[in-house]
Amino acid sequence: MIEKGGNLPLIKQKNVSLIKKMVYRYSPISRSEIAQRLSLTSPTITTSVNPMIAQGLLRELPDLEERRDMERSPGRRPVKLEFVPETHYFCGVDLGPYGISYALTDLMGRTVATSTSTYTDMGSYESTMEMLVESIPNFIRAAKQPKNKVLGVGVVMPGLIDGAAGKINSTFRSGWDGHFLAQDLSEKIGIQVKVDNNVRARIIEADLFDRMLLGDPVAYFYVSYGIACHLMINGSALYGEFAAAGEIGHTIVKQDGPLCTTCGNYGCLEALASEKAVLSQCRANLYYNGVPNVLSEICSDPEKLTIEHVLEAQRRGDQTVGRILNGCIRYLSAELANVINLVSPKTVLVDGRIFSVDQNRAQLLDETRTLALNIGKERTRFIFLPYDAYRGARGAASIAVKEFFLENAL
Ligand SMILES: [Zn+2]
Repeated sequence: MIEKGGNLPLIKQKNVSLIKKMVYRYSPISRSEIAQRLSLTSPTITTSVNPMIAQGLLRELPDLEERRDMERSPGRRPVKLEFVPETHYFCGVDLGPYGISYALTDLMGRTVATSTSTYTDMGSYESTMEMLVESIPNFIRAAKQPKNKVLGVGVVMPGLIDGAAGKINSTFRSGWDGHFLAQDLSEKIGIQVKVDNNVRARIIEADLFDRMLLGDPVAYFYVSYGIACHLMINGSALYGEFAAAGEIGHTIVKQDGPLCTTCGNYGCLEALASEKAVLSQCRANLYYNGVPNVLSEICSDPEKLTIEHVLEAQRRGDQTVGRILNGCIRYLSAELANVINLVSPKTVLVDGRIFSVDQNRAQLLDETRTLALNIGKERTRFIFLPYDAYRGARGAASIAVKEFFLENAL
């Protein structure tokens, strides 16, 4: 159906993009399976696939399942197709709240190099750009990959990021709003750049690189220094007006609650249940009535306290830390139940360091299931993702794969 119509070059481009996506998701896959899944004819598949084989982008593998049938149809050469992962590389950069992480992946999302750096200053847009113009080529060089094999760079950060325009609508960094980061960076490093929200990119990573069968819709519940819940509906990440979808951390859950230092309102979920909130409550309780406790034995300096210290104290039975986390997870569970009632996701992906503790995972699951409407809690599947410091950077690489490889006919 797709191949009929008046605008042939455009239709051909669309077909090539559809075929690439099909091979990406289901490889190794035979030509006949592609034809069947996309309702395209064999000649259309051949016309699109042959140039990619000639370029060395696609390779043919013997189809072991069909080999048995060979005697019945001699002359047929049963093969399956897959991409050659080393033909292109993608660089992902995660401008996170604690530092910057980099990941270089091959075409199929296998990580070939990683790196992290802390911020020398939580700098201006201009100084961060200068730093990236140096650090990205250095990282690619250190990974021993020629720059011309890097097809694209993805950059992600928290905030309202318009991926299509490559523009930062709004972020917590002062003076960054309104900048066209994708274009600015691309001009300086000579590689095409895609930008997006850090959590929206993580859904793309799960979908493309991990090839998770997520169903539809998908909710990605992310608890870090901030909190976000991004959605994928009909295979597309939801942006909403001004790219502001997913900012669940700034929904008000307690009107007389604490000040949210990110948005200036009171009682945001982020001010009550994020890592930032956990750390602030733990700092206030580092010495209970002046008496040392498990947490203060692990880290005695409130300035140096990290979420890892807090979780270690919880694992070692610090009761006050346990109570603080329990309170935060109660808010998170109620909010997640609200998401389930609002969108009825097929799958909820849960990502956050606090869920590396079994007890926290179990509490979120139990309370969310208790609070969500019957139909939602029965049908929604919960997947807790193991904590991975480079998931954000891999997400950044995955948005570059999607934009510059899969959506592109070349
Ligand atoms: Zn807020």
